[in-house]
Amino acid sequence: MQPQLIPRSEHAISRANISESALKVLYRLKDAGFRACLVGGGVRDLLLGREPKDFDIATDALPEDIRALFRNSRIIGRRFRLVHVRFGREIIEVATFRAPHDSDAGEMTDDGRILRDNVYGSIETDAMRRDFTVNALYYDIANFSVLDYANGVEDLRAGQLRLIGDPEVRFREDPVRMLRAVRFSAKLGFRIDPEVEKAIYDLGHLLGDISPARLFDEVLKLFHGGAALQTFEALRHYDLFRFLFPMTEEVLAHEEEGFPDLFVANALRNTDDRINAGKPVTPAFLFAVMLWEPVRIYMKEHPDEELPEAQALQIASSNILNRQARHITIPKRFSLPMREIWHLQPRFRYTRGKRPLRLLGHPRFRAGYDFLCLRAQSGEDLEASCQWWTEYQEKYSAEAVPAPATQRKRRRPRRRKPAS
Ligand code: ATP
Ligand code: MG
Repeated sequence: MQPQLIPRSEHAISRANISESALKVLYRLKDAGFRACLVGGGVRDLLLGREPKDFDIATDALPEDIRALFRNSRIIGRRFRLVHVRFGREIIEVATFRAPHDSDAGEMTDDGRILRDNVYGSIETDAMRRDFTVNALYYDIANFSVLDYANGVEDLRAGQLRLIGDPEVRFREDPVRMLRAVRFSAKLGFRIDPEVEKAIYDLGHLLGDISPARLFDEVLKLFHGGAALQTFEALRHYDLFRFLFPMTEEVLAHEEEGFPDLFVANALRNTDDRINAGKPVTPAFLFAVMLWEPVRIYMKEHPDEELPEAQALQIASSNILNRQARHITIPKRFSLPMREIWHLQPRFRYTRGKRPLRLLGHPRFRAGYDFLCLRAQSGEDLEASCQWWTEYQEKYSAEAVPAPATQRKRRRPRRRKPAS
């Protein structure tokens, strides 16, 4: 198949906007006699004048060839074998051109889902395997031209997301593409092609078959990509949110006086602001937000006068986390701090004696406090509490008393067993 070729003089991609590491990989592959192209979001975003999140490379070199060319590389993946070339904190993903799905050696389930396919092909077959037309553009390092096999440039100009091939077939092959459609449309402000929209409404339920571990990765891409609020709204619009957070969807459907919709929306706006300002964000906070209302409702529906509040909260948290784990795997390193954020909430009520100072030294204090103020902003009667803790921190830092955290650190070594 002949691609449409857009020569260097007719497109806006300049090597100055490609990361040095990606250029290094492209040139080294080319110098070793291989074909090497930048592909996917890197090309798409550069053509749109946006800064790409990462750079992906496609080549006719085999994983072993690539591995041999770069000392700082390793082969990863089972479903697809790829090579990661590492330069400090930057990872360049290099993939060998793939063959079509239907070639003999691939593995599929009876309902057409791809399990494994490590069959290699040409640049043409590779292009047809990609999800959206705008994601199937190649920037060829041999002559700096852009190769378009699927009318991606036209869709890019029109601001349109179209799948390559029949949407129903492509979504059955990999239902996560539905989440990708929503993510790209929210991030780029693109319209989803009506035929693709229809397939999403029809096939959303297939997300129930995706492994909870893969959904965790996708959820981070959805909500930590800088357009979380729009993405959330689009996910709900296409009725996909329920397959990620069914309990949250349930409470959102029965919201009263804007809460918890407002709470989630405020939190996501906050996340977007932080990301766009280059500040760190943590999945623990995101998941704590999403599941807070289900936890509260669980406590309301299982009242136990005998039980101390902290214990009731523990039970509710475990319950909600267990149920959520059927859909999304939340690794322990995030579920533990998440529980801490929740468990700090009732403790913010105590503002007398030594308790506030102790709370201030809690490793999760800041996240817990942000969470509290977010609840206040979203309609819970906590304005005064948020205000009190804001002032308390200001006063405390002005006095510059040594933080209790340091005291705890000093105590820790004593608990260790003496070295034998
Ligand atoms: P971004 O990196 O900005 O999130 P991207 O388009 O680069 O967007 P990646 O997940 O980095 O997305 O994938 C790189 C490319 O690999 C995509 O552009 C697409 O061509 C292809 N791709 C990724 N996931 C799939 C999939 N599930 N089905 C088909 N093609 C895919
Ligand atoms: Mg990418």
